Amino acid sequence: MDNRGQRPALSRAPHAHDFFKDIHELRLRLAAVSVNERTDGHVFRFELGLRRCVCGEFLVKAIVFEMHGGPEVLKYTDAPEPQLGARDVLVRVRACALNHLDLWVRGGLPGVPIPLPHIPGSDISGEVAKVGTEVKRVSLGQKVLLAPGVGCGRCAMCLAGQDNKCPEFSNLGYILDGGCAEFVRCPEVNCFPYPEKLNWEEAAAVPLVFQTAWHMLIGRAQLQPGEQVLVLGAGSGVGSAAIQIAKFFSCRVIATAGSEEKLAKAKEFGADETIHHHKEKIRDAVRKLTAKRGVDVVFEHVGTATWDDSFASLSPGGRLVTCGATTGFDAKIDLRFLFVKQLSVLGSYMGSKDEFATVLKLVAAGKLKPVVDRIFPLAECGAAHEYLESGAQFGKVVLTV
Ligand code: ZN
Repeated sequence: MDNRGQRPALSRAPHAHDFFKDIHELRLRLAAVSVNERTDGHVFRFELGLRRCVCGEFLVKAIVFEMHGGPEVLKYTDAPEPQLGARDVLVRVRACALNHLDLWVRGGLPGVPIPLPHIPGSDISGEVAKVGTEVKRVSLGQKVLLAPGVGCGRCAMCLAGQDNKCPEFSNLGYILDGGCAEFVRCPEVNCFPYPEKLNWEEAAAVPLVFQTAWHMLIGRAQLQPGEQVLVLGAGSGVGSAAIQIAKFFSCRVIATAGSEEKLAKAKEFGADETIHHHKEKIRDAVRKLTAKRGVDVVFEHVGTATWDDSFASLSPGGRLVTCGATTGFDAKIDLRFLFVKQLSVLGSYMGSKDEFATVLKLVAAGKLKPVVDRIFPLAECGAAHEYLESGAQFGKVVLTV
């Protein structure tokens, strides 16, 4: 996938906000002073793997940014140990995979007030280090993979198992502090069984992309066995997940990418046909590959750069499902084609915990495989962001902690 074309970063930090005041007290920080001020002059001793200052406060190493901007705003520094609510768990992070979301959160999103200072990172594998007083399902030392989504747990949508439609839904690392740190706090309900066959980095490469791709293809587009699917941006984490899910349902997969190397890898992961989007017009290639019919489902997340081609590649009755707009939000729909061809345009956002559980079963069974492109140490998070931004990767960029 082409990861260039980012919107410019906001020059000013958004305001603090109060969206999540009552969600498990997750957004509470120890005090309203900056991390650097806190760590100046601290003298540490170690307790339970945490550095404790002689002043009594535990500190953890983390990637923190205090203002929005480029990769240079990411600082490897000390942060206060997250404080647990009764149903929270403290997880010793072993690996945290990056997503495009991390780049947006770092750069700043219009209308989305990210609390600052902020610790990014949504895809987290690790071990339970501490539990709140009411935690019952997980125990100390247990290996866990964290569901990235955090809902209120009380609204009708949460209770219906559709927590990604909760009005207060967010991700670890988005509005809430995330896993680019030695320790992260999350609700107990976010702890899922660890896929034992995977190492820490492979496990961390699973959650967001597989959950998102599953929700798009199965939850939203209701993919049927044998259908034809066009997957845009096969080199992205979500694209490589979509290829595997569509193949799991015995679909014919046509994948696009911008280099021969990525197209070859797309085939390795099951793509039946590939389109080099710098050499061929996507809609023309799809027409050729489908005997002029078009595909049943288009898997979109690229946005403006590919939208017209995606829409034109649909067969009669086709569904276009989208979860993102990496290259821009502006898109047009020719209503004549929409109604004459009886097309559907579907929006999709993250995925539910139920879908995450399904994905994990298939990962544990070896039916879906995480794709790790490159691993960086936590301290080199800035370089990892630059690499992800370059679009050179096939699959996930992961931090080891
Ligand atoms: Zn809710």
